[in-house]
Amino acid sequence: MKLENSSPKTYRLSGLDRPAKVYLIGAGPGDPGLLTVKGREVLSRADAIVYDNLVNLRLLRLARPGAELIYAGKRAGQHSASQEAINALLVRLAQEGKQVARLKGGDPFVFGRGGEEAQALRAAGIDYEVVPGISSAIAAAAYAGIPVTHREYTSSFTVITGHEDPNRPAEESRLDWQGMVRAGGTLVFLMGVGRLAEISARLVEAGMPPTTPAAVVEWGTTWQQKTVSGLLSDIAELVKEAGIKPPALTIVGQVAGLREELQWFDLPEVRPLLGQRIVLSHTGEEPDGTAVKLAELGAQVIEFPVYRVVAPASYEPLDKAIARLDEFDWLLFSNATEVECFWQRLRLARRDTRALARLRVGATSQAAAALEEHGLLPDLILEKEIAEELGTVKDQKILLPRAAHVYIPLAAVLESQGASVAQVAAYGLEAGEDNLPGGASAAELAGWLEAGQLNKIIFTSERSLLDFAACLRPATAQPLAEALSKCEIIVSDAVTAATARNLGLETRRLELADDLTEAISGYFSGSDVEEAALALVS
Ligand code: SAH
Repeated sequence: MKLENSSPKTYRLSGLDRPAKVYLIGAGPGDPGLLTVKGREVLSRADAIVYDNLVNLRLLRLARPGAELIYAGKRAGQHSASQEAINALLVRLAQEGKQVARLKGGDPFVFGRGGEEAQALRAAGIDYEVVPGISSAIAAAAYAGIPVTHREYTSSFTVITGHEDPNRPAEESRLDWQGMVRAGGTLVFLMGVGRLAEISARLVEAGMPPTTPAAVVEWGTTWQQKTVSGLLSDIAELVKEAGIKPPALTIVGQVAGLREELQWFDLPEVRPLLGQRIVLSHTGEEPDGTAVKLAELGAQVIEFPVYRVVAPASYEPLDKAIARLDEFDWLLFSNATEVECFWQRLRLARRDTRALARLRVGATSQAAAALEEHGLLPDLILEKEIAEELGTVKDQKILLPRAAHVYIPLAAVLESQGASVAQVAAYGLEAGEDNLPGGASAAELAGWLEAGQLNKIIFTSERSLLDFAACLRPATAQPLAEALSKCEIIVSDAVTAATARNLGLETRRLELADDLTEAISGYFSGSDVEEAALALVS
């Protein structure tokens, strides 16, 4: 028996030996959370990911290091890769023995030409699997508060391409307008939002009442979601007035009228920051979750600059502290990076957990999790009022490993209470652009600023402001104050406010909300909903 030829090709980079295969994966409609568990699993081990233009780029962050990321969609001003070229690419990658993830917006077999790709793969003898995705046809409607079926109104829905020229003579058209109207179900038109006037006219001509409810959803399920509701008779006009552009879909039928009752996603009281592009500028030292909370309130959150952990200018102070750990009473960690960097140096000094036996260790919950990985349970989990939680600190010797050049207010508080605090640099932070997929470059930021497409920038520290300015400078010809003149600048403390003033920036100072629940109740009763929402997360 000849084994060489009968065994499938394998590619070793993906860890497990798996035969070459192409996975046609649905990326979902835009909200990155609407990817399937199976889709995520395949993306995270694929050797190559070939993605389209409606795919949320953030999903590409699931790729394993070293995976090839290949764009195969249409980009403004550029020709799209032809379908033949994409088919050939998929075949070639698989022939190289790779596990290929072909990532397409929504579901790959709903107007995604996924069927054609599968045929090309089959013809070339390449194995493939389909990982269905959540189609925008259902999801964008759902996020607009529109169920595509409802027992009282309709028991079917039809997904139709709006791409076909509705003025084609009936005998050439592949769309049966009268049939669609006769069926009486919900109609969902994908693509062709620019042809809405003709589509509505055709439907009315075919016998649909002009008073039938209709809705158009642009960028459904994302921070940019916009919905226009109307009737078949006026929807095209309303959409034009609202400046709706692709990607958008149109829902026609009684269910479109349910939005009024069922709207849940794009409610200003739930997501007051919807449609806002917000830069959150922090040194990577802030309590976690701010970006997530802003996003939950509807904003697109861009962290800029982002920080990479680098070695500090010198390890000497940390190494010296590690050599005389017994002299300290407390060792405090506020994040996992501090723990990891501290541990590295401890190990290099050929020491282990026992070196900390005499010390009391305090850690935030994030740092505590990292400590547990090293087999150490902290004596104290630090919450907000660290100084109080530690009890009397007078004459206590406290070791704080931390990032170089980052101001730690806690150290000053402890010192004012009579503690002796040793702050030693465990690592350095280097500010830069976010080069990961879906991140922002300085050039992009400058473009948005100039076009007035960036609503707010939140600076959480003086350092974040200075680093932001330094990163942006090479990307814009304008002085900083001018470049930022079209967006609102929010600072969270007086020092940052003063520095901003010196840079000629007009800022709004937002008091930090200590008590989250208080902020939440204020948020729901407050008159300035947006302000309260920001206070909630800052
Ligand atoms: N396979 C995709 C559809 C691809 S055709 C799916 O299942 O969703 C592209 C069209 O899909 C767009 O022109 C638009 O009509 C629709 N579409 C895709 N994403 C959308 C979104 N987030 N909001 C509204 N429409 C969307």
